[in-house]
Amino acid sequence: MQVALDDYVRAAGVATDLVNTAPEVWHGEDKLPDLDSLAAFAELHSIPVNTRPSDLRAVHRLRATVRDLIDHPTRDRLVTGATALTSSIGEVSLDATSGRARWTVSLRQGATVADALSLICGVGILGVVQSLDVARFRACGAPTCRGVFIDTTRPGRRRYCMPGLCGNRVNVANHRARKASVLHDA
Ligand SMILES: [Zn+2]
Repeated sequence: MQVALDDYVRAAGVATDLVNTAPEVWHGEDKLPDLDSLAAFAELHSIPVNTRPSDLRAVHRLRATVRDLIDHPTRDRLVTGATALTSSIGEVSLDATSGRARWTVSLRQGATVADALSLICGVGILGVVQSLDVARFRACGAPTCRGVFIDTTRPGRRRYCMPGLCGNRVNVANHRARKASVLHDA
């Protein structure tokens, strides 16, 4: 498996999705509780690597590490932390199979899902620090949500960790509040 070093948007999206599977975001419920759910997560993100029993704990550790990096986004910490995530992985090369050659890094033989996710999270974080800014690492704007995200949108105004879910919740709450104040004023 290869990860294109310039495709940090996809990689940062995987990192965001990974940290938001944690029980602290779901009132105690872990969205990656077992190997099956981890395999499904890998498939959803087109990570073609087999899942091994030892991966589950490794991915939970990785999830906590990435969360900690997003929670404390100073440049030095992000660069050092993300570099550590990619350190055991493989080789940097150019993929020239499709037109323009791209920088890539390849997973070594025998790498696990935990290795793949570690590489992807590392590339995503480094790419965002390099191409965007540390201000792109943020907490969800929904008052009741404990999720976090890496904002890779062009304008950089993303507000929610899961826009479809947290954004809608806030909209519904605002709508109710407006309705209540209209009734109150009447
Ligand atoms: Zn949220």
